[in-house]
Amino acid sequence: MTTIGIPRALLYYKYYPLWITFFEEIGCQVVISRNSNKRILDDGVRNTLDEVCLPCKIFTGHTINLIEKGVDYLFIPRMKSVETKKSFTCPRLVGTSDVIYYSLRALNPPTILSPYVETYTHPLIEAYLEVGEALGVEKDRVEKALAKALEVQEKFTHFKKKAPSPHQIMKKLSTVNREFAPANIPPHIEDEGSDGKIKIALVGHSYVIYDPLISMNLIDKLTSMGIEVLTGEMLPEELLMQNYQEILKQMHWTYEKEILGAANYYLKDDQIRGLIYMSTFACGPASLVGEAILRQARKHQDKSFLALVVDEHTGEAGVMTRIEAFVDMIKRKEGAAHGN
Ligand code: SF4
Repeated sequence: MTTIGIPRALLYYKYYPLWITFFEEIGCQVVISRNSNKRILDDGVRNTLDEVCLPCKIFTGHTINLIEKGVDYLFIPRMKSVETKKSFTCPRLVGTSDVIYYSLRALNPPTILSPYVETYTHPLIEAYLEVGEALGVEKDRVEKALAKALEVQEKFTHFKKKAPSPHQIMKKLSTVNREFAPANIPPHIEDEGSDGKIKIALVGHSYVIYDPLISMNLIDKLTSMGIEVLTGEMLPEELLMQNYQEILKQMHWTYEKEILGAANYYLKDDQIRGLIYMSTFACGPASLVGEAILRQARKHQDKSFLALVVDEHTGEAGVMTRIEAFVDMIKRKEGAAHGN
């Protein structure tokens, strides 16, 4: 059976149900790289340019892991636009397949399937027909496979909005689980999301905040400190879009609109005590989005705000110290507000 390697990095965190379902439906076997670890990071850093962002370096490491596994093809689509309006993704996401090809030539990588996903100007099916043609799969089968894959993707989106905590989302991502039926979503667990806990919102790219290595397991750390964590993925799309437009009338980066919308929504939410924006060093869009969130946060003096920028040299101890200080500050404010 033909094997397709999908790196567990970047947009895997958004589209893994769609991609895996599609390939399985056309009769391929999907191989996902292992969860991020130090070796993957080191391989990525050694084999890519210094100036790229950390998620792209990690992506390179994941691709090497798949090359070592001996997959027949790598799937690295050029995700140019994912909306039907004039909105785009970061140029680095569009160029990843080229960067991988030229960076890893010496490792003799397998053929890279890299169709243009450009839904602003072309129907999505065109990208998948291109993949089908490269693999010798007939049009009919590709169309049915994509329809099924989109269904599963929709269930994943729905699951994220209903998940009782980001842990549930992380678990799906780390175990590549594609069971999203409501019965599989645990009811609100007593010790998660229960009343009385301090609520902190965490916003940033899904491949940053859900990657255990890049985020340094921030969600787990906050939870172990007795904090209830909420992320942007848990909010409905319409809310994200409405809220980003309150800050910027127009922005042409799809995923950044979501981050901005989530930040603005949580800053206005009376139940939220603090907001953490996590980004990575050398991220182009973050320089604009981070500034916009900071300005917005200044208007909400009742909320504490922390911007965390990480790269491959960031020490976990330093991040932990900042997180502990941030949580302490919120707890002290809470205590003062209640006369303690
Ligand atoms: S948005 Fe930032 S972190 Fe994401 S790929 Fe682009 S530069 Fe890297």
